Amino acid sequence: MKFTILTLFPEIIEGFFSSSIMAKAVERGLIDLRLVDVRDFAFDRHRTCDDAPYGGGAGMVLKAEPLAGALDSVDAADKRVVFPTPSGRPFTQEKACELSREGELVFICGRYEGIDQRIIDLYVDDELSIGDYVISSGEVASLVMIDAIYRLVDGVISGESLEEESFTDDLLEYPHYTRPQVFRGLVVPDILLSGHHAEIARWRHQRRIEKTAANRPELLKRSGDEDRTNTY
Ligand code: SAM
Repeated sequence: MKFTILTLFPEIIEGFFSSSIMAKAVERGLIDLRLVDVRDFAFDRHRTCDDAPYGGGAGMVLKAEPLAGALDSVDAADKRVVFPTPSGRPFTQEKACELSREGELVFICGRYEGIDQRIIDLYVDDELSIGDYVISSGEVASLVMIDAIYRLVDGVISGESLEEESFTDDLLEYPHYTRPQVFRGLVVPDILLSGHHAEIARWRHQRRIEKTAANRPELLKRSGDEDRTNTY
């Protein structure tokens, strides 16, 4: 899968693609990155990409022409284009799964007050929000989405690791423990040392229900486990 990313700050993106699991996925040819510096498509000698908003008001807006030039240079009209924005639809695990099946995704990284609406009208397929808060950088929002998407691409990480994660169904994940068995007086639950796989699975399912009830009760309603919050 290829990620094409349009940005004014390519250096923010480069670090992520050259580290950890992502670097391995790139090395193995599972993931490809194409970085486009929007400033290369500015017309003036100062490489200006922003301007004041029509109608007045605070802040600057990313101009249409450099963005359109960058988008045309990657044939974005024929591709799935994502614009991360706080005013978009919520980005969810389900959406990450759907996007992980695309051959290529084009991300537009917004800055300042955002981008000229005509770019959204002409090119954008998905306006997506990473949460109900405002950050300053479309690069960080794009990387959050890319991080959620690329790990779902076939072969990047083992299918088993993905099966039991939070949001694969309507329950959050169970707690994990590793060595040592006692840490600052806190012990690993006996059941996890028992070797009884069916019992361990039952214990873990119950912990998932409890955690979901405590942290995300609205998910528990959807899962149908609402009346099972204290049964193990
Ligand atoms: N004026 C915009 C608004 O009120 O909706 C906020 C612009 S924000 C300061 C700059 C850029 O960061 C946005 O264009 C977007 O690309 C990105 N961004 C900020 N918060 C985001 C969020 N919750 N989800 C996705 N992208 C976000």
